[in-house]
Amino acid sequence: LSEKLQNVFKNLRSKGRLTEADVKAAMKEVKMALLEADVNFRVVKKFIKGVEERAIGQDVMNGLNPGQMVIKIVNEELIALMGSETTEIKFQPGSAITVIMMAGLQGAGKTTTTAKLAGKFKLKGKKPLLVACDVYRPAAIKQLQVNGEKQGVEVFSMGENHKPANIAKAALEHAAKNHNNVIILDTAGRLHVDEEMMAELQEIKDTVEVHQTILVVDAMTGQDAVNVASSFQEKIGIDGVIITKLDGDTRGGAALSIKAVTGCPILYAGMGEKLSDLEQFYPDRMASRILGMGDVLTLIEKAGQEMDETKAREMAQKMKKAQFDYNDYLESVKQMKKMGGLASLMNMIPGMNQMKNQGVDAEEGEKRMARMEAIIFSMTEEERANPDLLNPSRRHRIAKGAGVDISEVNSMVKRFNETRKMMKKLPGMMGGKKGRMKFP
Ligand code: GDP
Ligand code: MG
Repeated sequence: LSEKLQNVFKNLRSKGRLTEADVKAAMKEVKMALLEADVNFRVVKKFIKGVEERAIGQDVMNGLNPGQMVIKIVNEELIALMGSETTEIKFQPGSAITVIMMAGLQGAGKTTTTAKLAGKFKLKGKKPLLVACDVYRPAAIKQLQVNGEKQGVEVFSMGENHKPANIAKAALEHAAKNHNNVIILDTAGRLHVDEEMMAELQEIKDTVEVHQTILVVDAMTGQDAVNVASSFQEKIGIDGVIITKLDGDTRGGAALSIKAVTGCPILYAGMGEKLSDLEQFYPDRMASRILGMGDVLTLIEKAGQEMDETKAREMAQKMKKAQFDYNDYLESVKQMKKMGGLASLMNMIPGMNQMKNQGVDAEEGEKRMARMEAIIFSMTEEERANPDLLNPSRRHRIAKGAGVDISEVNSMVKRFNETRKMMKKLPGMMGGKKGRMKFP
């Protein structure tokens, strides 16, 4: 999607003034691109109409750069489609217990997301209780228990021989005694939307007061996710959506359509299998990501959270002076891993999406990084601090130590030196304002 749209905008940029015909022509291309991204047809139609209405007329009449104008409008309309602003999960006031029910098809990510949410709630000072209401597979209960333990959160289960609604009721009593203030019901999905599943969820709702029903959908299923969302909305009613596996979805179509079709906000986005891979959903950032601008804000925020500020500044200074050595490299790899690895970063850096489409593979990159680490670990402290020491005999010794071929050490040293040279040439980019290139 991004690539297509960028081409469209490139054409517009070079054209100068925008006429009604230009807008129409551009919107035809945008429409194709959105449909290709698996955005719901009705949503696309509405979207195109909205942008055209705004673009043709007074906005276009004033003297702004026409290309920028259309980008701005497309961007704003994309954001509006996804729900304008971040929505938080609402808790009951005071010490009242908030009951959250997770719903969704099998494999959508309910159990994983339940545990991920528990982590977020704990950070907010809540005391969550996770409840195993998926009684069809013993493995499902076990999975919740394992994940709950990882998060340091209690899991309530009654095995497989009780009705989910009764488990929910018992859990509520347990929570009251145990001073839990949020309970999350992990329910059972089915392969497809079916009556039995809906009846089961409805029965839970009839038995305990559910404050928030959260639908979990898999982004990779594209338009199907949108259809699933509207069925759930129709049958049991939902308050919010969590969209999972956005890490594996290059199209973004589902995220774009769900709010428009159900009227429910997207609360969080699942960005990986690890329990820390749950991010607040920012419609504006998603819009820029779809437009191919990269999710720079998320990246900067993440970097700020995870990376030690002083270390970052030191590293930026070193880069500037091309003093970047192998210890710094190890440190930067460590920081990058903290931020979710190369794959997750690639999605967020502007331009990287295109690289991915061109077959530059994060997995391959990570493998290469692991081999580089092995090589660096075979260096002496002195060598790590002074990359220029690495003469042929030292390189031989290092290759032996790392168990790799000498050619691999040579090419790594070459790449490393090239990078250092490049850093020297680009002083403006490194450690510049806002710390944009904190991470190599
Ligand atoms: P449930 O059947 O709805 O409870 O789904 P699970 O929580 O068991 O998840 C199904 C699979 O999807 C598991 O292998 C999870 O690790 C995986 N998964 C869940 N959320 C994400 C995500 O955001 N990204 C990725 N890549 N995998 C996820
Ligand atoms: Mg499950």
